[in-house]
Amino acid sequence: MQTADVVIIGGGIVGSSIAWHLTEAGCKDVLVIERESAQGKGSTGKSMGGVRAQFSTAVNIQMSLYSIPFYAGFDERLGHPAGYRPQGYLFLATRQSHLDYLSANLEKQTALGLSTVRMLQAEDIRSMLPGLRSDDILGGTFCSTDGFVDPYSAMNGFMASAIEKGATLWKKTELTSIVKDHGGIAAVDTTRGRVATRKVVNAAGAWAAQVAAMAGIELPVQPLRRMLVPSEPFDDFPHSSPMVIDMSTGFHFRPEGRGFLLAWNDPEETPGYKADFEPSFIEKILIRAADRVPVFENLAINPKRAWAGLYEMSPDLHAILGPVSGIPGFYLANGFSGHGVMHAPSTGKILSDLILKGRTDVVDNVELLYFERFAKNELLHETAIL
Ligand SMILES: Cc1cc2nc3c(=O)[nH]c(=O)nc-3n(C[C@H](O)[C@H](O)[C@H](O)COP(=O)(O)OP(=O)(O)OC[C@H]3O[C@@H](n4cnc5c(N)ncnc54)[C@H](O)[C@@H]3O)c2cc1C
Repeated sequence: MQTADVVIIGGGIVGSSIAWHLTEAGCKDVLVIERESAQGKGSTGKSMGGVRAQFSTAVNIQMSLYSIPFYAGFDERLGHPAGYRPQGYLFLATRQSHLDYLSANLEKQTALGLSTVRMLQAEDIRSMLPGLRSDDILGGTFCSTDGFVDPYSAMNGFMASAIEKGATLWKKTELTSIVKDHGGIAAVDTTRGRVATRKVVNAAGAWAAQVAAMAGIELPVQPLRRMLVPSEPFDDFPHSSPMVIDMSTGFHFRPEGRGFLLAWNDPEETPGYKADFEPSFIEKILIRAADRVPVFENLAINPKRAWAGLYEMSPDLHAILGPVSGIPGFYLANGFSGHGVMHAPSTGKILSDLILKGRTDVVDNVELLYFERFAKNELLHETAIL
């Protein structure tokens, strides 16, 4: 029978990063199982690719403090491009409560070691991006090491490098059940046969709850549709722009190719496996876009190029990572709530540390992210969600 030291379910950016970090740490007998014929058909290939350290909780900030420098050194270290572009994230405050919130977050971020984030006055923002409507802007924060990566390229780089170090990827292979014995995890059954293993990592993205159910737990991860609208080429706003977040509406955008990529999280969206792009969304987002950037009134949109994908929401908008008590050998890397690309490097390191050593120093208190927090009702609270 086929065997593996560790079987990872899901070959998106998270499963790929875990495979790379395990092989890098010397654990070579790693098998990644991906049901699609190609990687990236889950959320990773749909992502906006934003990476930021501007979060409000220590664990999320610390996960970014590992991940962003990792992306900065990715090409040299892995020999594959991640496409990291440090163009920054600019949060625009239009209410005093926004400013108070940003300044409290900035205090936490700098206390944890982030040195590239700063508070901006309204005049700074006006001179940085004169094309913004700024009559209601009170100030904001800008972090110069935040920016964007190419999620698809980073995922492929992680996996190619993991395979060079000994990992195996089975595509077109679906997990069908998880076998347990007195010692915990014993094997996985797949459409390609049984694999004996003592360690299984759930990296199944928006489908994580189904995989967890096979191991006998109810994982509170729900799919939630998010839609993105790319513009046609447009030169009347700078392509050097950071990711700009209008806190008054939640509308955000960044340069992409010769145009701009527009995002807005419709509060009326409901959970479910909805993968279709809804054409009526274009008007909703363009209203918000032109409200903040008047020249965006002239953006040309080809609806056929717009797309939808799934966020993998957890109840407290934090990842659910680590071992599961009562099921020795079963590990979770789920529930990123829309931050799985930016937190993939730290997740890979944390999972590899926990699997191989039982501890990690990427974050101060990794137990905060364990599945058991829901039973204990010790939920975290992240409000800096886009
Ligand atoms: C529109 C949009 C914008 C986003 N923007 C950002 C952003 O700016 N920054 C950011 O950090 N994140 C962003 N995200 C979130 C990010 O894309 C995800 O958090 C991340 O891709 C999750 O990676 P993953 O590997 O866990 O999941 P996925 O990429 O979904 O991979 C999971 C894989 O598991 C496979 N799988 C599932 N079940 C099985 C099974 N039973 N057997 C075998 N294989 C299975 C699937 O086929 C899939 O390939 C965005 C997401 C969307 C949809």
